Amino acid sequence: MDIVLMGAPGAGKGTQAAKLETTLHCKHISTGDVLRAEIASGSELGRKIAAVINNGDLVSDEMMLSILKNVVSGTDKRIIFDGFPRTVAQAEMLDSMLKELGRKLGKAVMIALPEAAVISRLSSRRQCRLPNGEVHQIGPDFSLQDCAAQNGEIFSRPDDTPEHVAHRLAVYHRQTEPVIKFYQAAGVYAEVNGDQTPERVFESLLSVLKD
Ligand code: AMP
Repeated sequence: MDIVLMGAPGAGKGTQAAKLETTLHCKHISTGDVLRAEIASGSELGRKIAAVINNGDLVSDEMMLSILKNVVSGTDKRIIFDGFPRTVAQAEMLDSMLKELGRKLGKAVMIALPEAAVISRLSSRRQCRLPNGEVHQIGPDFSLQDCAAQNGEIFSRPDDTPEHVAHRLAVYHRQTEPVIKFYQAAGVYAEVNGDQTPERVFESLLSVLKD
């Protein structure tokens, strides 16, 4: 059964989803990555998306759904959704899309993190772009030295500046937090403490997903 990974920006969803993908042999779908790939393709749609993302706002539910449908229908594996749904409307759309495709959501897990930790993580977050276009987040799995050794370029996401972080958090509180109630009502909601080492967060996730 499929999994939704929830959490404020910077809670560690991307890092944990990538580890879960390897350990549980599932497919990790990050809507942020899907959107950034569309931007990198240089398409007209990508240009529209860039304007929204760089402002820290959410891409429209309709646009999100049409982009996501192609990715989801292309796999038979169990899926980990990272960064989706971000609104109650998206959660409802996900429900009907999964039903249509004969799939089912098993758990929606929140990586919970105090707001001060979110702000400090996002403002110190750095990325490395390799000459082949791959992007890695600088952290325990990919260090500054790894980046330098592979001739990578260090950069910060344009939406990680202090003003954009404040705006993204406001958007998160207003639009994404109500999704918690939606999944609580559906009986699939669980929470893990995100304010611990990535290894401990991963163990907590595995244990919640076993239930
Ligand atoms: P992320 O990498 O998950 O932090 O996403 C980066 C940005 O992509 C967000 O701030 C939004 O602008 C956009 N985005 C990602 N996922 C969604 C979604 N499910 N709905 C709307 N916008 C999204």
